[in-house]
Amino acid sequence: MQSILSENAGSGPMTHAANAGSAVAEVRSGNGVRFGAWVSKPYGEGNRLESDFEIEINGEVKRGTVWFQSRAYLLKPSGEALLAVGFFPALAAGLPLTLGEPVSGTTLDHIPRLAEVFGCWLDLPREMTVHARRTQGPERSSRRTLSCFSAGVDSFYSSLHGLEPDAALLFISGFDIAADNRVLLETALGGVREAAQSMGRELVLVETNARSVVENLGVRWSFSHFSVLAAVGHLLGGSFDRFRVASSHNYREIFPWGSNPLTDPWWSSEGMEFVHHGSALTRVEKVEYVANHPVAMKHLRVCWSNRKGTYNCGHCEKCIRTMVSLRAVGALDRCTTFPLPLDLKVVARFIIEDEDTLNLVRENHDYVQRRGKDPALERALRYCRDQRFNRGLLRWIRKAWTWWRYT
Ligand SMILES: [Zn+2]
Repeated sequence: MQSILSENAGSGPMTHAANAGSAVAEVRSGNGVRFGAWVSKPYGEGNRLESDFEIEINGEVKRGTVWFQSRAYLLKPSGEALLAVGFFPALAAGLPLTLGEPVSGTTLDHIPRLAEVFGCWLDLPREMTVHARRTQGPERSSRRTLSCFSAGVDSFYSSLHGLEPDAALLFISGFDIAADNRVLLETALGGVREAAQSMGRELVLVETNARSVVENLGVRWSFSHFSVLAAVGHLLGGSFDRFRVASSHNYREIFPWGSNPLTDPWWSSEGMEFVHHGSALTRVEKVEYVANHPVAMKHLRVCWSNRKGTYNCGHCEKCIRTMVSLRAVGALDRCTTFPLPLDLKVVARFIIEDEDTLNLVRENHDYVQRRGKDPALERALRYCRDQRFNRGLLRWIRKAWTWWRYT
């Protein structure tokens, strides 16, 4: 059973109301979730959009402001963006969502399906009431694509594979990395800028507090992240009309997750199309593809821990897993962004914490086995997959040591 509650959700009305499972049966009262009309303020050559929200459940009220800003682009006030930000808090509350901007009829018509799917996955109500003036969304005009880019494997693949020559790349401060984590943000942004320039792509920068807003309302980021991307896409609808997001998983691995090929397109409107890209390939197949592009081997960034200020730490699960894939495709020595050589003993003893990681280990193992060129790596991955070094008491000692060493 999935829970929509974030592990670090604070106390307050949403924490209580969003308790999955019991939330379905619980009778609540109140006005639910309300977002006011956008207010636009100058910001560089672009603008900042703010919307005040209020959430009232069982007599308790929470208020705040969600904002998006871009120094170079004019963000367009959009009811679809408000709908995207408010969707999960309202679904979790089981109360109506009221919006102070008109919303595209096409997007509104998708809400029952989105509520059915996420309500089912999260054991929440399968329906949602939206109070908003229905309107005809803007026509598609720009015919330009915007592709999300973080310099990771998935987004490098989606930026290099079949993207139109005039498409631009998008990086959002406050999305994967909190806006107040300046060191990590500047490090990541530096790599993203250089990579975009090397690929001859325009880079669009947007900042937002939307992630902290939805997380503070008790909504888990693993389910709400695409709704924030959808909001950014709609706000940039005056400059772009297609929004490409890189898949995190392939079609064989579809499971309850915020961004997926089933629900992402349902956030589209008459004027904006959302495209979930890259699900036909496994992660190691994407690594094989991007390894043929020097720009990716020079700027690949997969690590979000920023341990000791490094671009990739070389220690975390994501770093090790990516180094394994690079070695599997014969490209590890060409990738210059990892500070350490790959230690197969670390691979063999790596503790698998969840099903998602196990799938990725299996995927790497099966690829190496098929290729038949690296028996040492295949053996290390087999030990890791079978967790031969990580059973019983030894597993807990190793976890305690890892926690002490790296936190
Ligand atoms: Zn790392």
